[in-house]
Amino acid sequence: MDCTETGALIRRLRTEKGFTQKEIADRMNISDKTVSKWERGLGCPDVSLLNELSEILGVNIDRLLSGKLVNNENNGGNMKKTEFYVCPTCGSFTLSSGKAEVSCCGRRLPPLEAKPCDEKHRLEIAEMEDEYFITIPHEMSKEHYIGAVSYLSDNRCFTVKLYPEQNPEFRFPQVRGGCFYFYCVKDGLYSMRNS
Ligand SMILES: [Zn+2]
Ligand SMILES: [Zn+2]
Repeated sequence: MDCTETGALIRRLRTEKGFTQKEIADRMNISDKTVSKWERGLGCPDVSLLNELSEILGVNIDRLLSGKLVNNENNGGNMKKTEFYVCPTCGSFTLSSGKAEVSCCGRRLPPLEAKPCDEKHRLEIAEMEDEYFITIPHEMSKEHYIGAVSYLSDNRCFTVKLYPEQNPEFRFPQVRGGCFYFYCVKDGLYSMRNS
């Protein structure tokens, strides 16, 4: 932990949020001299205080310790750069339009790599009026099912969450030139280009 970097970040986040040193100190039941000391790099926050401090400042503890925030490259919000994350503990599914730091159940989640479709993992797509009618020829048992399907184009993202024992049929609005992504709870993420 570099106290100077951490202190500079604490000062920056505190002023962004419009708190005085005293307000932070009062919320944490410590003296404002302590906060001032941190900000001048004369000492680092005690481990027992990190959790509360990170919540008050709205920053991850690891960022607080490193004293650095990471800036994402701005991708103009292109939905095609969407990343998919699944928590191995609770199974929840998260999308972000670009790289993000996603945590669930106390763990940092890496973005999933999509594999190309295979015989078992593919979508059947029929065009109906102005919609795609999608069916999935994959089993939907409790242990092995498709948990979510997304369709991404430059500026749109449609997602449907699926449940075991459900009939996997649904519709998405027709938007050309996008890409389907779907997640099998056992085998991972797959992608399939759309014409
Ligand atoms: Zn979780
Ligand atoms: Zn599967």
